[in-house]
Amino acid sequence: MATKKQEELSRIGQNLLGYSKSSYRWEVVWKNVIIFSVLHALALRGLYLYIFKAKIETMIFFWMYSWLGGFGITAGAHRLWSHRSYKAKTPLRYCLAAFQCIAVQNHLYEWCRDHRVHHKFSETDADPHNAKRGFFFSHIGWLLLRKHPDVREKGKFIDMSDIAEDPVIKIQKKYYTPLVVLFRILVPLYVDCYLLGEKLGTAFYVMVVLSYIYSLHVTWLVNSAAHLFGNKPYDQSINPSQNRWVSIASLGEGWHNFHHVFPWDYKANELPFTSNWTTRFIHFWAALGQAYDLKSVSAELIKQRATRTGDGSLFKSATTVQ
Ligand SMILES: [Zn+2]
Ligand SMILES: [Zn+2]
Repeated sequence: MATKKQEELSRIGQNLLGYSKSSYRWEVVWKNVIIFSVLHALALRGLYLYIFKAKIETMIFFWMYSWLGGFGITAGAHRLWSHRSYKAKTPLRYCLAAFQCIAVQNHLYEWCRDHRVHHKFSETDADPHNAKRGFFFSHIGWLLLRKHPDVREKGKFIDMSDIAEDPVIKIQKKYYTPLVVLFRILVPLYVDCYLLGEKLGTAFYVMVVLSYIYSLHVTWLVNSAAHLFGNKPYDQSINPSQNRWVSIASLGEGWHNFHHVFPWDYKANELPFTSNWTTRFIHFWAALGQAYDLKSVSAELIKQRATRTGDGSLFKSATTVQ
């Protein structure tokens, strides 16, 4: 008699071969639609206050704190934990886990699982933000709809043992809600109001809501724009593209054609410093001895791959790629 796992494998095999038609229907998650609508309305108020009312100290703190949350995603959830592209000592891992709470994009275990599924099943129904379903879906729509069953089904076969065993991730998962309240609400309010002298209302709209919505859109651009717009010097058969503007916005995560071809490279791009503040951030910690075993791809391997599968733009002119 076939075991449950064998039956699941067989069903996945049938789906992959197109034997069984998916019965998937769009189902709007109205709770998320309402939450994101309200947050965006509040963020607009935050944008108004940022432009016309906020103190210069708040304006500077906005970028510093938003980038800190950004590094929690890019250097932490993405390059360290999801891809193991470098190693980090315990103090740095705690710092990155705290920074990742600022971004409020689910706890590290869930973030890494979704991201590994995204890489393994890129541009299929099992990809949580499948860019073949269009810009809106891959940007925000995937969070407003019930997940496609393939995401859960195929996600079960992703190896998460390293993540599940990481003590820092275990602690972050256990205390995720209070940590989010602390790092997304209380710390920015305390610093902005009591240390920088900002009004409580302005601090709330700018430092809590606007900063959060800003960082969400920056991350979402990697899933949408960097999967749809840009050239493909390393593999022209895939959707992920080299997108300078997304890289500027996302601290270096927009060089997405390179990243999907060589996901284990800690730079997430061929050149280390082109619009890539996350690489600088990792170098900073490496200089302090906290980050080590930085993995990267040899120039020879990159050239071979680009020659074999790229769109040729790597060899035309450096400016067409970077
Ligand atoms: Zn991607
Ligand atoms: Zn990745």
